[in-house]
Amino acid sequence: MEKVLFEGVIISIQPRIRLLRSFDEGAHSYLGYALVVADNKSEQNLSIGIGVGAQEKHKFRVGLTISGSCSSVQYPHTESVDFYRVSKLKILTEIPKDSSFPPWKTIPPTLPVYRERGPRRLSARTYESKCTSCIWGCKMAVEIIIDQWNPGKRKYRQETFCYGPKNCVLYASGPTRKVPGRKGMVFEEEDWVDEMRTSNREEDD
Ligand code: SF4
Repeated sequence: MEKVLFEGVIISIQPRIRLLRSFDEGAHSYLGYALVVADNKSEQNLSIGIGVGAQEKHKFRVGLTISGSCSSVQYPHTESVDFYRVSKLKILTEIPKDSSFPPWKTIPPTLPVYRERGPRRLSARTYESKCTSCIWGCKMAVEIIIDQWNPGKRKYRQETFCYGPKNCVLYASGPTRKVPGRKGMVFEEEDWVDEMRTSNREEDD
């Protein structure tokens, strides 16, 4: 597979999570981290998946200039990033940490921290306009099994979520998510699902 060389500033680092939906059930796979690099060579923003080990080693955050090589993802409909299989990662320059918030632009926590905190749905428009640089935002690749008796019938889409403090002033939930099922049935994921997923946290946690 052809390798793509990149070099540029990290403008986003968030968890890379896949969500498998089957009507009213959902299972998250915590795969690693998703970087967005403003690439000097192509003059495009490249979304690049990295593993937990790479993040533990380099402690990437928004503002670092990095270089490396990566490959295009093989099955784009199942991914929230365009590239993965990264090698030759190097940090070239650092700027001082930006500790203003929201959005939070620090080194993201470990994946078990995200898992324990739990997500709330986040308006796609708010995500794109305010949350792409926040460590608590996440654009998940979603795979939907339409009919559990015919598991080959699937749909793919992306959904945006927030793992951050519930009282973040930038937060907007957006419309409830609808999950298609067999024989035209639709499951509507109402607010109580988010409340349940994040019930272990106070408003400012
Ligand atoms: S809404 Fe969530 S993702 Fe967006 S800035 Fe606030 S904490 Fe971060």
